[in-house]
Amino acid sequence: MANPSIDWHVRAREIRIDGRMVVDGERRTAADGATFDCISPLNGQPLGAVARGRAVDVDGAVAAARAAFDDGRWAHQAPAVRKKILQRFADLILAAKEELALLECVDMGKPIQYALSVDVPATARCIHWYAEAVDKLYDEVAPTPRSALALITREPVGVVGAIVPWNYPMIMAGWKLGPALAAGNSVVLKPSEKSPLTALRLAELAVAAGVPPGVFNVVPGFGHEAGEALALHMEVDAIAFTGSTRTGRRMLDYAARSNLKRVYNELGGKSAFVVFDDCGDVTRAAVTAAGALFFNQGESCNAPSRVLVHERIADEFAARVAAEAANYAPGDPLNPRTVMGALVDETQMRTVLGYIDAGRAEGARCIAGGGQARVETGGYFVEPTVFDGVTNRMKIAREEIFGPVTGILRFKDEAEAIAIANDSPYGLQASVWSDQLSRAHRVARALRAGTVHVNQYDEDDITVPFGGFKQSGNGRDKSLHAFDKYTELKTTWIRID
Ligand code: NAD
Repeated sequence: MANPSIDWHVRAREIRIDGRMVVDGERRTAADGATFDCISPLNGQPLGAVARGRAVDVDGAVAAARAAFDDGRWAHQAPAVRKKILQRFADLILAAKEELALLECVDMGKPIQYALSVDVPATARCIHWYAEAVDKLYDEVAPTPRSALALITREPVGVVGAIVPWNYPMIMAGWKLGPALAAGNSVVLKPSEKSPLTALRLAELAVAAGVPPGVFNVVPGFGHEAGEALALHMEVDAIAFTGSTRTGRRMLDYAARSNLKRVYNELGGKSAFVVFDDCGDVTRAAVTAAGALFFNQGESCNAPSRVLVHERIADEFAARVAAEAANYAPGDPLNPRTVMGALVDETQMRTVLGYIDAGRAEGARCIAGGGQARVETGGYFVEPTVFDGVTNRMKIAREEIFGPVTGILRFKDEAEAIAIANDSPYGLQASVWSDQLSRAHRVARALRAGTVHVNQYDEDDITVPFGGFKQSGNGRDKSLHAFDKYTELKTTWIRID
């Protein structure tokens, strides 16, 4: 919770940005000294200059990461040693929680209360959890004939390029860093150009915790410059990417054009929230649908942006979701009571407003919101918006909006609900609301999504995998399964005479 004695406006005015890269344990400017302005979505004003990493800077960071990996300064440490250092790293994240939360708030627009209560603790818990796990993982001995011994071991993959988006900058970085570092890899992280600030501080905290120089490097910059250079690099062994499906496609292409590095894509979503007429608590379902959608300004990959409701209860349900929207009025993100902040930048705001126009043009009925908010601030705020009368062919039902906009679609029976829910290029998450146990199981099995919730939406934990079917990606972040991405399986045969 936000400390009531803190004046976040005063703290925000006092922020001093160090936008230099972190390479080989040190702060560095870009080789050519280039920077870009980091703009706050709260008011459209610059927060500070950030190094504009390009190919030459990526080369330097990858060389540092490679050297660190090859000499074993991290990879060859006993797991218990890596564990201690990563635990310290997580502790330092918690100790810096107010600073990190403030940076996340002013850099990407999320309310300070959630930056404090969600983003910082979730990042620290992620690092802690993988630190804890690393000295409890055992390798395997195969059931071979007595004449031989076959060991199946996991080895770190090498240099990992992590490319992350702006919606949960720290958490997304943490989901890569936790398992990648715990497994002994070196990492070069490219944060989004829209929210680079916390990544730079994380790298400093890691160094302070004892992560050796070169093991965790951060090169901020643009996707088509630093991002492309990292994904094309011949000395990068794996790319752990989170972002749009469009960019994920490019990651596969970069790998094909370079060294066939492993590519793990965590991509977009258009998640279905399916409410049957035997749902016992329609009010809770409506409150949950609105809360899950409007949290983080709707900028969540798993936001339930297609709400499918049985036609018998659809009018009532739509009215309840629209009424809930009123509880998410955009406010000043630095005010600890604000629940809906600013969209990340002007481009994203224009994109979202464009989808709202498209919804109206295609004949959907806007029953809440539908416009820009807090225009006088110079920031990028959009009203929580609900469309009724949406069909699954409309642009607002097919494409990921990534803003506070949801649509109500109607269905007649279970088969139609499943067909509509699965009729999407995406398959990240879904939710079923029904009081019939057998229906809930049946539909949960039929939904093509990486995570399916039954009678809830927001349960989440580092212990379970997160990722998508279809064009929502391939790899899985979180849980012990994430180690699959950051390790190679090796078989060693030993003859026994
Ligand atoms: P994006 O694809 O535009 O950018 C993501 C990252 O890729 C950024 O760091 C960007 O600089 C970089 N990038 C962009 N173009 C590149 C290129 N040509 N070469 C190399 N790198 C490039 O996505 P975004 O707008 O930052 O993030 C929003 C997207 O992320 C949404 O689609 C959302 O659903 C998705 N997302 C998915 C998950 C998940 O776990 N599945 C989680 C969060 C966000």
